[in-house]
Amino acid sequence: MNTSPTSLRLEDVSTAEDWLAVLADHNFVDGALVPVPGTLDVMEPATMQVLATAAASGQPEVAAAVAAAKAAQPGWADIAARKRGKMIAEAGRAITAEAEAIAKLLARETGKAIATECRGELAVSADLLEFYGGLGSELKGETVPFDPSVFATTTREPLGVIGAIVPWNVPLVLTMLKIAPALVAGNTVVIKASEEAPFATLACAAILDRYLPNGVVNVVVGDGPNCGAALTAHPDIAKITFTGSEAAGRIVYQEGAKRIVPVSLELGGKSPMIVCEDANLEKVVTGAISGMRFTRQGQSCTAASRIYVHETLYDTFLEALQAQLDTMTIGDPLDEATQIGTIINAKQKATIDRYIAVADATPGARVVQCGTLPTGGGLAPDLFMQPTLILDLPEDSPVAREEIFGPVCVIQKWSDYEAVIAAANDSDYGLAATVWTDSLTRALDATKRLNAGYVQVNQNLTIQPNLSYGGFGNSGLGKEASLEAMLEHFTRKKTIVMAM
Ligand code: NAD
Repeated sequence: MNTSPTSLRLEDVSTAEDWLAVLADHNFVDGALVPVPGTLDVMEPATMQVLATAAASGQPEVAAAVAAAKAAQPGWADIAARKRGKMIAEAGRAITAEAEAIAKLLARETGKAIATECRGELAVSADLLEFYGGLGSELKGETVPFDPSVFATTTREPLGVIGAIVPWNVPLVLTMLKIAPALVAGNTVVIKASEEAPFATLACAAILDRYLPNGVVNVVVGDGPNCGAALTAHPDIAKITFTGSEAAGRIVYQEGAKRIVPVSLELGGKSPMIVCEDANLEKVVTGAISGMRFTRQGQSCTAASRIYVHETLYDTFLEALQAQLDTMTIGDPLDEATQIGTIINAKQKATIDRYIAVADATPGARVVQCGTLPTGGGLAPDLFMQPTLILDLPEDSPVAREEIFGPVCVIQKWSDYEAVIAAANDSDYGLAATVWTDSLTRALDATKRLNAGYVQVNQNLTIQPNLSYGGFGNSGLGKEASLEAMLEHFTRKKTIVMAM
């Protein structure tokens, strides 16, 4: 059923604009678009115009979504695990078939470039559904050699209804990281989409629903304090999986504690990249640009936002990095030539600007801005930003220590290996780290000593299916993207002992 005031039906949607017309002001609950009375403006960051209004859900809407998920869960769990997986994988292929329209929707709501970011996000999202879709048979228990007089075994059971809360920066991948393993494990889900960028998430849920029983996947849209909080407080939510800021993560963790339900948290980061004297400079420069996620305007939890370069390479590295950043095209997210789009909103832009101002006011520090801002073409100038390098900054500056979540990278010179490892580890975060060297000994030593959940050598990849991903310290709790993530975070283990 589609109760949208537009004459379009969900099954006839084919363009990004069609999706917007049917999804505006709606949640997706129990296989249908459900209109919500209150609305929120979702801005298109490249134009600063309202893209569409989105549902402003609160407690009643969340309760309806949880009720649908709860009703659907026993039937879903009764489907053979391998068959559930096949259904999820098929939904992944369907998303691939409709990827172009959703990539455009994503580019319009997030300001990320379609060519460098949004198409790739759709591909990874579909890949995650296919990856987990193949893991249904892995929901195995063990037989335990306890005593010859008993038969002892363990089984893995679904938890029930999962509450999944996601941010705006990579909304689809971060949603799939949660729901693909949760669903294959026999749970049903209520996704709390980001109020800044809810539409691509709603579209993907509507596609998934075509392959699943109604009520298995539900999406509510709303803000954190009303909608997110109603979800975390709901007594029928058996587990909360959250990606977002450290501040909101702490609140969510406390809510989980009140009801004694498990909570997984993927929070912020200030990830170090250590460049040793024997590193391949060309690869390092490319790795710094991809690692810093400049094509995502640096809005990435794993952004390599602290780069430590050995003094012998420092000047050449800086020159080459700046030269390459200068060639990158900042512009309309929908233009195929654009490599760098916009910051998500004015609040985030103001936060980034404040950090740059602090660096600018620091004696001896230098702020280097690269590339050229776009003009004209119907674009609003407000949220475009140049890639920004901060040099000669004291290590204790908040700019060097706190997550900025923008295209701002602090570059430091080092000469002593022990000191650079200590500096890299001197952080409350521990999400990701990279080391760049041709020495196997150095690489092995650094990977052992770096205090981060995802450590790479001579590359700077994002989250990959099959590689466990999750932070240490204030970067969060739990793992995503792997078989381990499905078993540990979306099932409960039961021990069964039978007297013979
Ligand atoms: P945010 O914490 O403001 O919001 C994230 C989500 O939580 C949103 O859906 C929001 O509505 C919801 N929320 C906010 N307050 C809530 C509350 N009290 N109860 C329940 N839900 C609440 O974060 P953001 O600005 O959307 O995203 C940026 C942050 O996300 C950055 O700090 C970044 O590091 C982090 N992030 C982490 C990862 C990771 O994998 N570790 C990935 C992407 C982003």
